[in-house]
Amino acid sequence: MAVYVGRWDCPTCGNVGVLGPETQCPNCGSPRPKNVKFYLPSEAELVKDAKRIKEAQAGVDWICGHCGNQNKAANTHCSSCGNVRDDDSGDENLQERDYATNEVPVGSFEKERTYHPEEPQYKNNQPKKKKNIFGRIAAAVTAFLATIFGFQALQKTVDVTVQDFKWERQVQVIHLEPVQRESWNLPQGAYNVQKFKAIKGYDKVLRGYENKQVQKRVKVGERTYVCGKIDKGNGYFADKYCTEPVYETRTETQRVPVYDQVPIYGTKYRFTIKDWVDKQPLYAGGQNHDAYWPELKQKGSDWKTGQRKEHYHVIVREDDGELHEEEVGPNYWASLDYNQKIPAKHSIILNFYYGLADENKGR
Ligand SMILES: [Zn+2]
Ligand SMILES: [Zn+2]
Repeated sequence: MAVYVGRWDCPTCGNVGVLGPETQCPNCGSPRPKNVKFYLPSEAELVKDAKRIKEAQAGVDWICGHCGNQNKAANTHCSSCGNVRDDDSGDENLQERDYATNEVPVGSFEKERTYHPEEPQYKNNQPKKKKNIFGRIAAAVTAFLATIFGFQALQKTVDVTVQDFKWERQVQVIHLEPVQRESWNLPQGAYNVQKFKAIKGYDKVLRGYENKQVQKRVKVGERTYVCGKIDKGNGYFADKYCTEPVYETRTETQRVPVYDQVPIYGTKYRFTIKDWVDKQPLYAGGQNHDAYWPELKQKGSDWKTGQRKEHYHVIVREDDGELHEEEVGPNYWASLDYNQKIPAKHSIILNFYYGLADENKGR
């Protein structure tokens, strides 16, 4: 385990970078403060000396409850006042702390910690927040809509005059006539029947087995790496180790079944049968207020009408003579008269016309 020499700053005289294991400031002689925060400069000294490594591993320093001096774990008496180490007299311990590689404190004079090369940086790379382009577009659209609706809030109701009407109606025509069909069953009323063989489906039939190469990801062991530093609570730091699984891709041979698709034949019918067929629809329409449904000209039980569609427009005139055409519902359209005054929405500033105001206009 690699051990490094940490540092601390003296709050009494402002001396920075005091060697971690020192329990007193070499400049002013003040004891290491009770709430000392050890840090690790990027160029921290790697400890090689066995005695100091042992000191680093011996445990956290303790604070004398009598005089406040800090002492090594191995000391049984305070090195300053000679008091016996004793929990009852208020002696306290410093704390050991774990840091991830990118969180190790580096000291006030160093802005950024440089990584030790043996530390895999990818472990600590937080995914950068991508600038969300969609968020920006949404913000722009929202701002745009706020402007539009802001303008709409500045609107008034004005009377417009009914100038003209338009309408359009459509009726589906359906005819009973002979059509060509194919089916697995023969329906009633079919004639000109032909029978033929056709593929109805497929059976999955086992042909045999064959060997196939498949790739498999197999765990082959574990890898230990440095994932941070431990503040030993005595002025030293030590490497923190993490493990992660190591995988290998292996090729395996597997016996897999092989199938044939065997067609299933059946008897199918091709025939003529009488059925209802959609023909060209009937249309009616005009620029007036007299709507009617177009009538079926063909007589006989083999003709009928189907689905109906209708569209109605009203053309209104503003006081300044400007015309607007708008689609409305059938009931509203029928209730209107020529030259009738009806409400519409208009902007107060800028000459915007927003359409008819009656809430029943779609009915
Ligand atoms: Zn000092
Ligand atoms: Zn003491």
